[in-house]
Amino acid sequence: AAKRERTGLRVWDAVDAVGSTRRLALLGDLRRSIAADELAVHYQPKVDPGTGRATGVEALVRWHHPEHGRVVPDEFIPLAEQSGLIAPLTTLVLRTALRDCARWRRCRPDLTVAVNLSARSLLDPGLPEQVADALAEVGLPGRALVLEITETAVMTDLDRALRVLHALRRLGAQLSVDDFGTGQSSLAYLTRLPVDEMKIDRSFVAAMAASSSDAAVVRTAVDLGHVLGLSVVAEGVEDAGTLEALADLGCDAVQGYHLGRPMPAEELAAWLARQVP
Ligand code: C2E
Ligand code: CA
Ligand code: CA
Ligand code: CA
Repeated sequence: AAKRERTGLRVWDAVDAVGSTRRLALLGDLRRSIAADELAVHYQPKVDPGTGRATGVEALVRWHHPEHGRVVPDEFIPLAEQSGLIAPLTTLVLRTALRDCARWRRCRPDLTVAVNLSARSLLDPGLPEQVADALAEVGLPGRALVLEITETAVMTDLDRALRVLHALRRLGAQLSVDDFGTGQSSLAYLTRLPVDEMKIDRSFVAAMAASSSDAAVVRTAVDLGHVLGLSVVAEGVEDAGTLEALADLGCDAVQGYHLGRPMPAEELAAWLARQVP
C-alpha cells in the first residue's frame, strides 16, 4: 500500500507539473495572441420567446491555439485574470463586439451586444472611461451595450465595484447579473446592485425538464427578477420543451443551443438576416 501511495504521489506530482508547464506555456502564447489580435469573438443570440426574434447577442471569446487547437475560455480566462492579461483581453473583446454590433444595428437598431466582465475588470477604475472611448469610436449609444457581471466578482470589494458599476450605468450601459443562483448571498446582492437584467444559470434551466424542484427554482427566480424590475434571461436552453416552459413562466429572453450556438460574426449576420420577416 505504501508503495502504491508513493507511486500515486509521483503520478500526481507529474500531472501537476505537466499542468503548470502547460499553464506557463499557454500564458506566454496568450500574451502573444492578444498582442497579435489573434483571438476571435463569437456571438450567441438572446431571443424573445414570444416573437422568436433576437433582442441581443452575447460576445464569447474564442482562442484557436496554433498547436493545442481550441482552448476553452474556462481554461484561459482564469489564466488571464491571474496574470494581468484580462485588461487587454477585455479591451479586445469590447472593441470587436461594439464594432460588429454597430454594423448589425444598421438593420436592427435595437440590437444589443453583451460583453462578459471578469472580477478584475470590475475593480478597475479605468474601465468606464475605456468603455466610453470604445462606444465613441464606433458611434454607439451606451444602451447598445450590456455588461454581464457575476456577484462573486462584486463581493470581493463592494464599494469599489459599485463605483465602477454606477459609472458604467451613467454611460447608459445595461448591467446583467450572470449565472444567477450559483453565487453566494445572491439575493442580498441583487437588491444592492444597480442592475437591469438577471440571467438564470444554465444548471437550473437544463435540469428543469426532469426535476420539479429545479423547475420551481426557475419559476421563483423569474418571479423574483420581475419583482425587482429586471429583465429575466434563461441560459442553456437545449430543447423545445424547456423553451415552451420558459415562455409560459414569462421569461423575457432565452439563450441556448436550441435557439442558436455561439457563431462567428458573419454567420450571426446571416442568422439575423434570416429572421427578418
Ligand atoms: P458564461 O458567460 O456563462 O457563458 C455561457 C457559456 O455557456 C458559453 O461557454 C456558451 O458557449 C455556453 N452555452 C451556450 N448555450 C449553451 C447550451 O445550450 N448548453 C450548454 N451546455 N452550454 C451553452 P463558453 O463560450 O465556453 O464560455 C465559458 C465562460 O467563459 C463564460 O460563461 C464566461 O464566464 C467566460 N467568458 C467567455 N468569453 C468571455 C470574455 O470575453 N470575457 C470574460 N471575462 N469571460 C468570458
Ligand atoms: Ca455570460
Ligand atoms: Ca452564464
Ligand atoms: Ca459561467
